[in-house]
Amino acid sequence: MSIHAKHFAAGQWRKPAGKTFASTSPARLTETIGEFPLGTKADADEAVAAARKAFPAWRRTSRILRAELFDKLAQLVKRETDDLATLMARECGKVVTECRAEVVEGLHMIQYVFGTGRMPMGDILSSEIAEKDAFMRRKPWGVAAVITPWNFPFAVPLWMLGPSLVEGNTVIFKPSEDTPAIGQRIVELFEEAGFPAGVINLVHGEAEAGEALVRNPSVNCVLFTGSYEVGKRIAEISASIPDRIVASETGSKSAVIVCEDAKLDLAVTSGIISAFKTSGQRCVSAGRIIVHEKLIDAYAEKFVATAKRLKIGDPLDANNFTGPVINKTALEKIERYNALSKEEGGEILLVGQAFQPDCQAGKPDLRGCFLSPHIYRIKHGPKVRCIREEVFGPHLALIPFKDNEEAVRIYNDTEYGLSLAIITESYRTMRYFRDECEYGMGYVNLPCIGAEVHLPFGGVKKSGNGHPSAAGLIEAVTHKTAWTVNHAEEVKMAQGLTTEVK
Ligand code: NAD
Repeated sequence: MSIHAKHFAAGQWRKPAGKTFASTSPARLTETIGEFPLGTKADADEAVAAARKAFPAWRRTSRILRAELFDKLAQLVKRETDDLATLMARECGKVVTECRAEVVEGLHMIQYVFGTGRMPMGDILSSEIAEKDAFMRRKPWGVAAVITPWNFPFAVPLWMLGPSLVEGNTVIFKPSEDTPAIGQRIVELFEEAGFPAGVINLVHGEAEAGEALVRNPSVNCVLFTGSYEVGKRIAEISASIPDRIVASETGSKSAVIVCEDAKLDLAVTSGIISAFKTSGQRCVSAGRIIVHEKLIDAYAEKFVATAKRLKIGDPLDANNFTGPVINKTALEKIERYNALSKEEGGEILLVGQAFQPDCQAGKPDLRGCFLSPHIYRIKHGPKVRCIREEVFGPHLALIPFKDNEEAVRIYNDTEYGLSLAIITESYRTMRYFRDECEYGMGYVNLPCIGAEVHLPFGGVKKSGNGHPSAAGLIEAVTHKTAWTVNHAEEVKMAQGLTTEVK
């Protein structure tokens, strides 16, 4: 079945007369998931106008009633979990078990937001004046644009849409052009849950539609997750718009550090999952495994042998470890970095190759963007691009280190700072890396991937600037107000300010 999609504004599904684009399966390039309208400035402006119009009534709705709509949404997502996972696997090529876990993560965000409705939304503070009551109360910014990437097409939008809406903002959602079908299903479920017209609006399309949202001065808040380059452009455009908040989560060059005392099997499993789960296309995927020089020969041997055995194939087959990369452009970019790793002096241990998985009898032929892991050993050095820049694919450098100080220097020597894993049995070593490395999420004796919605999510340096994800999002989608009430019958001021009027 192919979807014929529409924009959604002011509670109406609308099919504009203009151009469309196709969403195709990365595992079967001949399979079209659906045709979607290519959003224009006019479409973006119409959706923003609808969100602006709906804002006052939504803001005035009880926070608890807003939250209770998320309870309805949770029931719908439970009903649809398997279908959503299958659609996601077809559209973005992640293996269906992983897609199911992502739907569950989105569900957890919805459940978290539902609970938030009855949680405090401010603080009670003391005043110098005994007769004064002082409060910090949060207010929504107004209209939020939510612009999201393809690699977490369900959980990442919900991380942003949920807290924005429960706090009283109205939103325009622009899903990635690589995963518009999942984006559309999200908005259909919000509509079915009973969110009022104009509270959530959908604009499909590419950079033009996203940029039109960013340029619209009626948007108070842009919540972005995607590449650093697009995040930077959004920040630059927004700098000239008064009353504009931007929160971005962007790329990474995450790493696993394998210490001298590491348990080898645990270190290899953690490294393989960090580097190759989702074919290395998570924001937190490791592009580097930094290994103590005494361990690196044994580590490399076991790591390469394990990588060779990974099952890469049809994302609808739950037995596969991972599926294809997202599209041909991504595949070609990764192949360029694979070639660069050799040009920059890497010793290639496993050559990454484009391939088509074996087709078993009775199974459909897969003509998709499949790419096997690329592994190389390289010394850290200045200006080596392949170990500094985000590749976003199954491309992995093994880098030796002599002592923990050197490992910290190597880890920090990129412009990114998203995720870090330490493999060690020593609590002193763990503590040293915890304090000296630059990251947003740290893991010990685990892969450097994996998130839970109630934990902070985000990074430092070029990896992000506003934690627009998960529980911490309340800071981005609300502003804090001070609210002070006098219970005396006369005016009394702090700091001893005289109140005599003469
Ligand atoms: P992308 O930056 O190409 O696209 C992200 C979104 O931005 C899409 O919806 C796209 O249409 C839109 N867009 C493109 N140009 C725009 C413009 N000029 N103005 C406004 N919107 C525009 O990213 P992608 O390829 O979809 O996703 C991969 C990237 O996302 C990687 O860099 C990855 O690290 C990052 N990512 C980061 C996190 C995180 O939490 N840090 C999570 C997931 C993905």
